[in-house]
Amino acid sequence: MEDRFAFLAEWYDPTAALLRRYQLFYYPKDGSVEMFDVKNQRIFLRRTKYDKIHQEDLFVGNRVNVFSRQLNLIEYGDQFTANKLGSKKERTLALIKPDVVTKIGDILELIYSSNLIVTKAKMTNLTSSQAGDLYMEHQTKPFFTNLVQFVSSGPVVAMELMGDEAMSIWRRLLGPADPAVARREAPQSVRAQFGTDGIKNVGHGSDSLAAAARELEFFFPSTIGYGPSNTAIYTDCTCCIIKPHAISEGLTGKILNSISAAGFEISALQMFNVDRANAEEFYEVYKGVVTEYPSMVTELCSGPCMVLEIHGTDTPKTFREFCGPADPEIARHLRPTTLRALYSKDKVKNAVHCTDLPEDGVLEVQYFFKILDG
Ligand code: ADP
Ligand code: MG
Repeated sequence: MEDRFAFLAEWYDPTAALLRRYQLFYYPKDGSVEMFDVKNQRIFLRRTKYDKIHQEDLFVGNRVNVFSRQLNLIEYGDQFTANKLGSKKERTLALIKPDVVTKIGDILELIYSSNLIVTKAKMTNLTSSQAGDLYMEHQTKPFFTNLVQFVSSGPVVAMELMGDEAMSIWRRLLGPADPAVARREAPQSVRAQFGTDGIKNVGHGSDSLAAAARELEFFFPSTIGYGPSNTAIYTDCTCCIIKPHAISEGLTGKILNSISAAGFEISALQMFNVDRANAEEFYEVYKGVVTEYPSMVTELCSGPCMVLEIHGTDTPKTFREFCGPADPEIARHLRPTTLRALYSKDKVKNAVHCTDLPEDGVLEVQYFFKILDG
């Protein structure tokens, strides 16, 4: 008998404003997919080869794109699939402390090279009361006040990491809590590389699945609008989107490193899953103007993207120059050090979107951080 993986998947149909449920089947032998409409009890998509889905993308909690539909995998469809694909998948919280937020690119490189993926991310300012809640278990320790004060002294980046044994892998990557010990015992760890002392020790990682659940709920609550707010400032800014193809190719860390190395300040950062209706709305000005408009929409809603507010005088102009020409061939010839020259594949999968017109910088940043962040 041929192997077949089964999932229950949800898709939000914007036209009908309905959540639709499907059984999604994946046949690893030939990489084909099949969909069955649960409510209407009929085949929705006959078994078809689809090379954009890979076995490693298939686990509950992930989103996959099937012929331009973003499907949420919400349950395993049978025991065979749960045993084969679900056994060791975990989610954990990774928190990057204020002094090393500028090292986020390097840290992401280490995360991706450990086979973990980033499924959520948000830059936020914690109040001291929020920081106190987060470190509740250390309330009675002598370093508690300093720790809380430091963690609320500037923006932090919270991330949900996902993968096989994500919790212990991230803690191993962090290394021993004291950077001096880390440098002796785990010189490759992030605390050894970027840590200063017991308080300034790069970051935090959940230490149990229960803690991970609590801490993830704290930063990324299931009730929209209840989490700590983003850090966007909406002045002297431009909008940069690291596109879904670049995220899934594991280029996020490299792109963030390039942006920082070029001297740009990232004043807000957040991952979004953009649905088709919002992608169409965001790109509205290109409709009928740019021939690539439909493909741009499809790309933007094909998976998670990372949106940045880049802050500084004249950034709409200088950052746009740094992104380079939209066509990568031209970029590689004329502007070989630009983001597009380095990281894009074609005119649509061109690594990043950046604001075109200076007067649109604030509007585009608002679209994500005010409207979509809810
Ligand atoms: P970890 O962060 O590796 O889980 P702990 O849970 O033991 O480590 O401690 C939580 C945080 O409290 C640490 O990341 C560190 O910033 C701080 N901390 C722990 N021990 C000390 C110490 N002796 N001096 C200063 N800060 C400390
Ligand atoms: Mg701890």
